[in-house]
Amino acid sequence: MSILSCAHTHTTFCDGKTPAADMARQAFELGFVSLGFSSHAPQHFDPKYCVSPDREEEYKSEIRALQREYEGRMPIYLGIERDLYSCADPAGYDYFIAAVHYFEKPDGRHATVDGYPESLKAYVDECCGGDGLTMAKRYFALLRDYVLFSRPAIIAHFDLVRKNNAVLRLYDEDSPAYRALALDALRPLVDTGALLEVNTGAMARGYLATPYPAAFLLKEWKAWGGEVIVNSDCHDMKFLSCGFSEAEALLLSLGYDHAVRLGRREMWERFRLG
Ligand SMILES: [Zn+2]
Ligand SMILES: [Zn+2]
Repeated sequence: MSILSCAHTHTTFCDGKTPAADMARQAFELGFVSLGFSSHAPQHFDPKYCVSPDREEEYKSEIRALQREYEGRMPIYLGIERDLYSCADPAGYDYFIAAVHYFEKPDGRHATVDGYPESLKAYVDECCGGDGLTMAKRYFALLRDYVLFSRPAIIAHFDLVRKNNAVLRLYDEDSPAYRALALDALRPLVDTGALLEVNTGAMARGYLATPYPAAFLLKEWKAWGGEVIVNSDCHDMKFLSCGFSEAEALLLSLGYDHAVRLGRREMWERFRLG
């Protein structure tokens, strides 16, 4: 297994279970070549999932201290996972990961994409005329426009809608209509140079058997010349490299011979898979 890095890592600063120092030690003991922290950026709603605005500076200084502690042994980077509806400024971080975890409803409240299935089902019924494909199309359009506008380093869990679709069966993931709308949203993102994340987080938590995004998306991304990064979206140090072997095997089967990770000399380095 050659991946040995994760740029999408949560800690007790947001909704993770592991303190940052323990996560860094775990990465080092696993032989990681680098580690990037990416707490959920502050937002004005669902406060238990994100860094509290009054702890943002503490988050930054704690990760910077770990960076100094591991200097010369394992580069550590300060990143952030910023939701479309976050209020945080990604400046001041080494990189940011763009994600859409919510829909904003007409009344200003938010429905979760990947939280309780009931929340998404209610949104589909109330705001999408009960049509799952309409919801999926809206999700992909939000993520596409967010990435085009904000130019992140990494596109998080591109088809996050799969998580609750596995339970709710809101649409057929193999249907040409679904595939076409997902591909239409992904295609323009290649030109931004953002890394498409192969995210194994839902495998670690037992929601899905394969990473985000689905193989048909990864296959086209490669054909368009896009680059990928493998991340575990880790919330618990026990799962820091969970699913990496499966993700690597999947990428190799799709013809990828390399991926990108946080580097030792340059911030982003290519490395050979397999
Ligand atoms: Zn996320
Ligand atoms: Zn995350």
